[in-house]
Amino acid sequence: MNQPGTSNAVQLAERVWWVGCDLPDERLQGNSYLIEQGDQSVLIDPGSRLTFAETLRKIEQIVPFSSIRWFICHHQDPSLTSALTLIDQRVERGDARIVSHWRAAEMIRHYDLTLPFWLVEDNQWQLPLPHRLLQFVFTPYAHFPGAYCSFDSATGTLFSSDLCAGFREFDSLFADEGEAYFETIRSFHEHYFPSREVLSQALSRIEHFPLRMIAPQHGYLLAGNLVQKTIRELKGVECGLHLMAGKDTDIQRLSRLNAMLRDITSTMVISRDFREIADRLLAILRRAMPVELLEFYVQLEDDTVLHLAPESRYRGVAASPPRQISKLFGISRESWQGRVESSFRPITLQRGLGTTDRQRMMLPLFKGEEEWMYGVVVISVAAEIEMDSHICHMMEQMSAALQVAVERETIYRGIELERQKFYERSIRDPLTGLFTRFYMEDTLRRLFEIHDRSGGTPVALAMLDVDHFKQVNDQYGHVRGDEVLCRVAHIIQADARAGDLPVRLGGEEFGLIVVGDPAVEIAAVAERLRQKIAATRFQGTFSGLRVTISIGTALRQVGESIPGFIERADLALYQAKKQGRNRVCSAESSAGPGQWTLLFD
Ligand code: GH3
Ligand code: MG
Ligand code: MG
Repeated sequence: MNQPGTSNAVQLAERVWWVGCDLPDERLQGNSYLIEQGDQSVLIDPGSRLTFAETLRKIEQIVPFSSIRWFICHHQDPSLTSALTLIDQRVERGDARIVSHWRAAEMIRHYDLTLPFWLVEDNQWQLPLPHRLLQFVFTPYAHFPGAYCSFDSATGTLFSSDLCAGFREFDSLFADEGEAYFETIRSFHEHYFPSREVLSQALSRIEHFPLRMIAPQHGYLLAGNLVQKTIRELKGVECGLHLMAGKDTDIQRLSRLNAMLRDITSTMVISRDFREIADRLLAILRRAMPVELLEFYVQLEDDTVLHLAPESRYRGVAASPPRQISKLFGISRESWQGRVESSFRPITLQRGLGTTDRQRMMLPLFKGEEEWMYGVVVISVAAEIEMDSHICHMMEQMSAALQVAVERETIYRGIELERQKFYERSIRDPLTGLFTRFYMEDTLRRLFEIHDRSGGTPVALAMLDVDHFKQVNDQYGHVRGDEVLCRVAHIIQADARAGDLPVRLGGEEFGLIVVGDPAVEIAAVAERLRQKIAATRFQGTFSGLRVTISIGTALRQVGESIPGFIERADLALYQAKKQGRNRVCSAESSAGPGQWTLLFD
């Protein structure tokens, strides 16, 4: 854009002029505006005593000073109102008025002026003029309690006071399309606006006007698409930073950290999934430091340590942590401080003491109100980090937020592990390690579905019962009896082929499910097993004991129910027992008297 100079009045729109003055070595250049309306002319934010002579010169390039009737003061800062003391001496007409909010009038009156006030709130927040209507928009605390802006309906210009104002550094009036202008606006708002809420309130009040140009009190004027773009971007700006800055004047850095803090908080609110939280936190941290890895170690109630790291997609997996970490679990807040390794530089955090060395930063996690440590956040970094108070503050915020997320995750993981253990217990017989009846029925259900659908995958069951097992117990005792059961189970397991399912049905009863082609040969499979067991000599304390088994087999018929199928095998087993034990009986296609076949003896 071909920028007009600032040495003369600059026309901005029909009858609207910039009559400000750039002071040398002043970062906060003031903008005064003139609306030329014949003898109803308006001067907006008259300026300082220091700049008034220059502003007056520019005014008089357009209209005689005496044609100004209205002196609009959007608030009371001396940089825009102290010129009133000079104006007061110069004005001769009796109808001239200082336009302000009563709160600003309360301040301005201390200049001891003779000019009377015209209060916006007493006049329906508008001033009808010959060629336009000025509408006043109340924007309290932006940055003064009685602050307001003026919208000129004729040109779509918003005289926006401190809203959208900035530190103008160059000898140009209009903001350029580039991004640099926004930085000047951002830092101004970070300094002058007390909070995001106040800023958002103010922005929402001006937003719905048909804005064509924003003419702020300081800094660049905004026109064209920069108007909406700036409003949009301002909504994300941190405010009130000067309160936190203390001696630190690096507001931009502070602003970045503050934005990170906000993102950390919103991550915790938005995300439920721990992996998402961890990924987001990692991305946020990387904005401030060269973080390579973010991982967590958490100790559960049963002393299992979960490791949550990217390689397991932050799903906690049981792990044995490095010694340096495992020895920290269970220690109190107090001793956490005492334990800090000499190689670590301690970071003092309110909620506990973090540590850092060249490569790693560790944040302790303390459980709820309890005083003992149950987890560690390990942040691995590529280069040493300067731990100043702001980074510490951010870390502290993060650790507080993580506390909740990690606790939530460990509860979920704990429940899941419990469920897994419970499931394992329910499908595995603790004595023999074979599958349980519960698991067998579950498997049969799935196999039967396939069988019924295709009819082509046969399923067979062999039910095995140790013969006269009571006698084994009687002779050797229950513990020895258990050993025999384990040996039998082992033989069944060893004999089974991949795809077969060996089961302990209870007591000294076992089952073997055979699927596919071999199922049709179930009787032969069973016979081989019978022979193997019968041939086994139990050595040691058993001094050559032999046991035999009886087996009943059944081949499943399409549509047959689980109880029906099991019952047929069971009845075949009964037959095997009845016919003298140590043999295999096979059920015919359906259960009924006289349908048992004695296959082997
Ligand atoms: P049969 O040939 O008719 O099957 O005679 P049996 O003695 O094997 O049958 P019975 O059903 O009369 O007795 C089964 C015995 O198995 C009784 C019970 O004490 C024993 N038993 C059941 N479960 C276990 C176990 O887990 N360990 C041990 N050691 N013995 C068990
Ligand atoms: Mg039995
Ligand atoms: Mg038995």
